[in-house]
Amino acid sequence: MEEVGTGLLDRLDAMQRVAASAPGGPLLIVAGPGTGKTRTLTHRIAYLCAELNVFPEQCLAITFTRRAAEELRHRLDGLLGPVAEDVTVGTFHSLGLTILRENAEAAGLPADFRIADDADRAAARTEAGDDDDRYTALLRKRDLVDLDELLTLPVALLKADKKLVREYRERWKWIFVDEYQDVDAVQYELLRLLSPADGNLCAIGDPDQAIYSFRGADVGYFLRFSRDFTDARLVRLNRNYRSSAPILAAAVQAIAPSSLVRGRRLDPARLDPEAPLVGRYAATSVADEADFVVRTIDELVGGLSHRSLDSGRIDGRSTSLSFSDIAVLYRTDSQASAILDALARANIPVQKRSHDRLRDRPGVLAIARELRHAGLDGSLAARVRLAGQLLAERFAVPTLDGAGSVRPEDVRTAVDLLTPLARRCGDDLGLFLAQLATGAEVDALDPRAEAVTLLTLHAAKGLEFPVVFLIGAEDGLLPLRWPGSEPDDDAVAEERRLFFVGLTRAQDRLYVSHAARRSRHGAERECRPSPFLDVIDPGLFERLGETEPRRPKDRQLRLI
Ligand code: ATP
Ligand code: MG
Repeated sequence: MEEVGTGLLDRLDAMQRVAASAPGGPLLIVAGPGTGKTRTLTHRIAYLCAELNVFPEQCLAITFTRRAAEELRHRLDGLLGPVAEDVTVGTFHSLGLTILRENAEAAGLPADFRIADDADRAAARTEAGDDDDRYTALLRKRDLVDLDELLTLPVALLKADKKLVREYRERWKWIFVDEYQDVDAVQYELLRLLSPADGNLCAIGDPDQAIYSFRGADVGYFLRFSRDFTDARLVRLNRNYRSSAPILAAAVQAIAPSSLVRGRRLDPARLDPEAPLVGRYAATSVADEADFVVRTIDELVGGLSHRSLDSGRIDGRSTSLSFSDIAVLYRTDSQASAILDALARANIPVQKRSHDRLRDRPGVLAIARELRHAGLDGSLAARVRLAGQLLAERFAVPTLDGAGSVRPEDVRTAVDLLTPLARRCGDDLGLFLAQLATGAEVDALDPRAEAVTLLTLHAAKGLEFPVVFLIGAEDGLLPLRWPGSEPDDDAVAEERRLFFVGLTRAQDRLYVSHAARRSRHGAERECRPSPFLDVIDPGLFERLGETEPRRPKDRQLRLI
């Protein structure tokens, strides 16, 4: 545990300190990528508790994914020690679930209501046809709640009951929301109910990283924060601690035509004169692009070293760059297979982020039911072990007789996945099951795994890697275009923000590649490089492989 108190803010820069120690009242932190948002957020909570006598149980921190919530929790533990457990940390959906469980009766639900799984939804949909009201009535009759209702029902409850609003405002006097640029209308409404207009609401985000409008997110809520909340204080963080100066310069130029932040500034904290330029590779084909990625990874991690189990080591010496430092990012999931194949052929270990939600995995809910029937009231460890065993059975590798075999490593993975959740739910089995059912992403991504990470640009948000390949930087993929249709200006702007998110994941080395031909929509097409590249100063690029394949210069290879 870090020392709380006078030294608490020493690890922040001047503006981060201003944000972390700001007095109560609405606070908007506009912060570009890599400027330390999570660091600032966790230090603010710790500071308020340690210095201003705020009780941890009065704090509610909301994020968008369970992974982000775990990360917040982990950092708070480090700063606050055991009392960090009293801070409520969760996703919007888990917050909605908490409110609904505490008020099930008022919402007309039995205490043990369940969240509808795919089979439940399909059955109700078939019976109800196009009749949405009837659909909801069927779910309700079966004591089921749809995922969207985890937000809409609490909003309806709170709107109808001022006393309830007062109770929650009394409980969570301090509210923190990360990635505020991605809130949608219902989430916003819930926040407005939980926080008075002059409340201690701290919103953090970056409008230039708003990439979820297709899911209903509206960056407008971010932009009008100071109109919605009285006397809102605004703090900007401009210092980027993540990326080398050339990478940052390229990213800032790339976003400039669409930036939603007036006077956007991102100053590099890292000023290494030896920092390599952004590598740019013009591939002849998709296969050539994949070969380029493999070849370069090979060079970076050290030739043949990975073909032994002892990856990341050369001659028994440990290099500081390993496969886990490398990510390959792409616009559409369909681009992954060529890279996956090429990496597999080269024996390079790889992990691909699963977009599945736990609840979408076949059988997970049936698991949940078995656990309920088993009436598990054993120890936490026993419960998690059993849940892990059951999960692993569901995903068992099929054998020839169709029985399926459970691999111990699958049980371990499942247990790892469930432990933090189970710990948080304590003795409340119902909550554990409900949380399991509400999903959130399964994090198949293990940050410690010795493997190259493959991710869509959307899934890469918030993450950072020493080495990033952004592949398929072509017109038609960035911005994405369907045959016969042109994206409108708003769509292009969102695609550009996505490109910006991709570029700013890189810490030390960034490679951007495009292929001259690519199969899309069932036909092979000629491709032009992405127009987003045109606004970047050519002097920031090092053109790779144009005369003959060449290695990055040794001095440019910064092993960290
Ligand atoms: P994004 O918008 O991409 O989510 P972010 O603003 O959340 O970025 P972080 O991931 O919190 O940024 O921080 C980026 C990196 O900078 C991290 O490695 C973090 O440890 C480091 N960092 C942040 N603040 C400081 C600081 N004051 N001193 C040193 N390193 C810092
Ligand atoms: Mg972040």
